[in-house]
Amino acid sequence: MTISSEPIIVKGGSGWAGPMPKGSVLRITDVAGQQVGDLVLFREDDVTERFSQANTRKMENTIYLAEGSRLWSTRCSVLAEIERDTVNRHDILSSACSPYDYPIRFGIADHRSCLANLCAALKPYGIPEELIPDPVNVFMRQELSTDGTLSVEPPRSRAGDHVDIRFAIDCIAGISACPQDQNACNGWQITDLRLDLAPPA
Ligand SMILES: [Zn+2]
Repeated sequence: MTISSEPIIVKGGSGWAGPMPKGSVLRITDVAGQQVGDLVLFREDDVTERFSQANTRKMENTIYLAEGSRLWSTRCSVLAEIERDTVNRHDILSSACSPYDYPIRFGIADHRSCLANLCAALKPYGIPEELIPDPVNVFMRQELSTDGTLSVEPPRSRAGDHVDIRFAIDCIAGISACPQDQNACNGWQITDLRLDLAPPA
């Protein structure tokens, strides 16, 4: 992949959004290791069609994404595909951490959250909170027990690991460098993500 633009650093605990044309590639790099990024995608010409965790699980027959996985929309269109992946383990079970769950799960009011980060980053694109879907939790690792119990474990990503996502149609993408420091989601340390955007070849 030819990286032609200046990298964008998404500071740990903050968010970013921008247009991703058909054929372009978004490389998400875990700068320091074990940092999750909550990624959401919207069809640019109709943002009511957006990424769907449930359709992606159904169409890909998996609860973990890896190289070759396609990211499906609420109307079962392919929005993008994971073209290259040095980790091969991404969660599509969990919702974004939010201002609504920190008080209940951890007794903390006003904690930074992926949902709030995505809301702020996507606002300039006219995308309100109610349209923000459950994300691709890039680098996030949950383990599923045979009895159905889920546990959040530290990501397998190490410094420099990355995933390349090629867009199948014009999209708006939003990403949050997850501020979750109350469980093992980010290895108990919040660090930066780096984005490299490559235009269509
Ligand atoms: Zn989060």
